[in-house]
Amino acid sequence: MKKGKKLYEGKAKIIYASSDKNLVIQYFKDDATAFNNQKKSTIEGKGVLNNRISEYILSNLSQIGIKNHLVKRLNMREQLIKLVEIIPIEFVVRNVATGSLTKRLGIEDGTILKEPLIEYCLKDDDLGDPLIAEDHIYAFDWASKKEIEKVKKMILRINDFMIGMFRGVGIKLIDFKLEFGRIKINGKNEVILADEISPDTCRLWDSVTEKKLDKDRFRKDLGDLIPAYTEVAKRLGILHEQSNVTAVNVTKLSSIKKKNK
Ligand code: UDP
Repeated sequence: MKKGKKLYEGKAKIIYASSDKNLVIQYFKDDATAFNNQKKSTIEGKGVLNNRISEYILSNLSQIGIKNHLVKRLNMREQLIKLVEIIPIEFVVRNVATGSLTKRLGIEDGTILKEPLIEYCLKDDDLGDPLIAEDHIYAFDWASKKEIEKVKKMILRINDFMIGMFRGVGIKLIDFKLEFGRIKINGKNEVILADEISPDTCRLWDSVTEKKLDKDRFRKDLGDLIPAYTEVAKRLGILHEQSNVTAVNVTKLSSIKKKNK
């Protein structure tokens, strides 16, 4: 697939045209940003890990019937995806209260929510992606009621699937962000899952130790972001245990050896 001109550059990804007008190439950068772009850095290897993890999650979601934009991964940093018209809303799904929710409403960090909570933020960097009510979406025609009903059903299935998938590898899915896009399939307008699902867009805590295995390592200056993302990839079976032996694994291995002595 030939890479065409750059169509759009975001904070963590670049979109290029492809030789098929209905498909584009999504390139995963190593750039990390937080707090509405106030904190910036480049973390070598992050894009490669997010490309692999997102490919894994989206292809698993496809298998349970969640339509999404992924066609195939092309290489270490690129995916071929369907061109969609992105709905300008970030859908935040929460299972456990943390981050902005705790600050905004004074809820204790780590509170388990009775049911998944869906929040809507307007995708607008200049405004700092403000939280909006569902009615704002209809008042300003950002999406139709029918589209949001469909999206909500998809979100609950995605959440159920991802909770189980991560639980199976000893990770708690705390919260995450999703984006959806409009596309015509066989002449019919559809809404499909788009963007990425990775440790950049999810909060993932180790089930036992509650160690953060996600972008909070960057937001909170905890360090060791690459070992944490690598750990997620390894537990999901995307990377082999032996590959990229990182500081974390070396520490783990030595503690196992000590225990066995
Ligand atoms: N999130 C994201 N992109 C954003 C905002 C949030 O991927 O622009 C994700 C974030 O990684 C977390 C969830 O959405 O998994 C909830 O984020 P929250 O609003 O708590 O973010 P904070 O303001 O604490 O960064």
